[in-house]
Amino acid sequence: MSNDSTELGHHIGGRRVSPTGRERQPVYNPATGEVGTHVILADDSDVQSVVATAKAAAPAWAETPPPKRARVLFRFKELIEKHHNELAAAITREHGKVFSDAYGEVTRGLEVVEFACGVPQLLKTAFTDNIGGGIDNWNMRQPLGVTVGITPFNFPFMVPMWMAPLALATGNTFILKPSERDPSPSLMVADLLQQAGLPDGVFNVLQGDKCAVNGLLTHPDVRAVSFVGSTPIAEHVYTTGTARKGPYPLRVQALGGAKNHLVVMPDANLEQAVDALMGAAYGSAGERCMAISVAVAVGSVADDLVAALVARVKTLKVRNGMEKDAEMGPVVSAAHKARIEQYIEDGKQAGAKLLVDGRGLQVAGHEKGFFLGGTLFDHVTPDMTIYKDEIFGPVLCVVRVPDLGAAIDLINGHEFGNGVALFTADGNTAREFSRRVEIGMVGINVPLPVPMAWHSFGGWKRSMFGDLHAYGEEGVHFYTRYKSVMQRWSSSIGKGAEFSMPVNK
Ligand code: NAD
Repeated sequence: MSNDSTELGHHIGGRRVSPTGRERQPVYNPATGEVGTHVILADDSDVQSVVATAKAAAPAWAETPPPKRARVLFRFKELIEKHHNELAAAITREHGKVFSDAYGEVTRGLEVVEFACGVPQLLKTAFTDNIGGGIDNWNMRQPLGVTVGITPFNFPFMVPMWMAPLALATGNTFILKPSERDPSPSLMVADLLQQAGLPDGVFNVLQGDKCAVNGLLTHPDVRAVSFVGSTPIAEHVYTTGTARKGPYPLRVQALGGAKNHLVVMPDANLEQAVDALMGAAYGSAGERCMAISVAVAVGSVADDLVAALVARVKTLKVRNGMEKDAEMGPVVSAAHKARIEQYIEDGKQAGAKLLVDGRGLQVAGHEKGFFLGGTLFDHVTPDMTIYKDEIFGPVLCVVRVPDLGAAIDLINGHEFGNGVALFTADGNTAREFSRRVEIGMVGINVPLPVPMAWHSFGGWKRSMFGDLHAYGEEGVHFYTRYKSVMQRWSSSIGKGAEFSMPVNK
């Protein structure tokens, strides 16, 4: 294996490695359309090498006391703070989102690191003195061994941080397989963890595509896989991973795609609702799993809402994300741009009213960038593909419904169940909505209800496969195995064999 700094390689066992003979893929700057660098794509021998390295590092790290593991994370947290700007700039360079948004992404990832710093407390479990016959009973949460994170392009720092800090804090080794579209932040994380004193081999980065994913999924030494990405791949990861045979069934959590609705009630503050829709639909060019892509206008609010939106969408500041006043940057790739443009055409053909068409936008000085303007459809109906599919671009669909019941039925009828928001001035409407809606994360007058680090993140229905949600306490449970210990000592052991079920008599 050789090191080559002109391209992005793996990080295995504390070293950057770029094996020769692997396929290379260009990594673009979406604002300029130019190739910034190349990333190598793992083959099966790289998968074997990274898993063997993580496996070899696992016993010593698992034996490292939790307070010592936490100290590494405290130092990592300080290093993230020190390099906050560089991390955000790397995200903008390869993803395209505006710098302030990328900066916020780093903050949200950092919060999980802060949470993981409390791992000694998080691993504290219950103890019952004297359950009977001189026996005490307590629990422990033990690490799994080699764990894997497979992440999407849209949050190249935050989503890896949903996984790695808790996996490491709870005593596992970790292999990150980032998106091949924006791989740099993962390598920066590897460098910062190393500087923080993490032993070599405990955190590794394997660059690659489906070959890397499928190799990791079926490797017998991998104990858990956290996946975040689109629903078809999430389902593939979940079904392939959980079907793995052998003494250790693979533990899998697979978070998928979304179609998030924001319901505007007639009593809502219209200005606030419009602000919320603009940020949540067009922020990050709609490339967020929590992006709002459907505005549900209830009753009399529709005409005023649509009129206000049209004016705002037409004046969206679409620029290179590094420019200070940019509100929206480009989408991630030329292929993704073409896919979104096709959806806009499909919506038009299906009879939705195209009020603002973002196609054909030119950004001065960035003619080759992957830019699209904000797009707004009205009179969208549930049978249209622009309603059914996750477009993952700056396209907002307005659906008109007569009342709250119809809004809830519409939302519950969709296959996805990630996030939802309701704008209202009425507490009872909010309460009713929160209880009846079949969605994992609910915002009341909050457009992007992304739970904080000590709560957990996850959708329902086809937005998530598996049981335990990401980060928070559920994350701690995902990366640990629960064991219950009952113990007594000789003087309290009675004579003779017991053939009946042990009970307190
Ligand atoms: P994607 O599914 O294309 O890729 C995700 C990961 O899977 C990448 O690491 C990629 O290399 C790998 N992959 C891609 N194709 C594969 C295949 N055929 N077999 C095995 N592995 C494969 O997703 P993306 O385009 O990078 O990200 C956008 C998607 O992620 C959207 O659908 C978005 O909603 C979703 N997402 C969901 C959440 C959530 O929390 N639910 C968060 C962020 C993003």
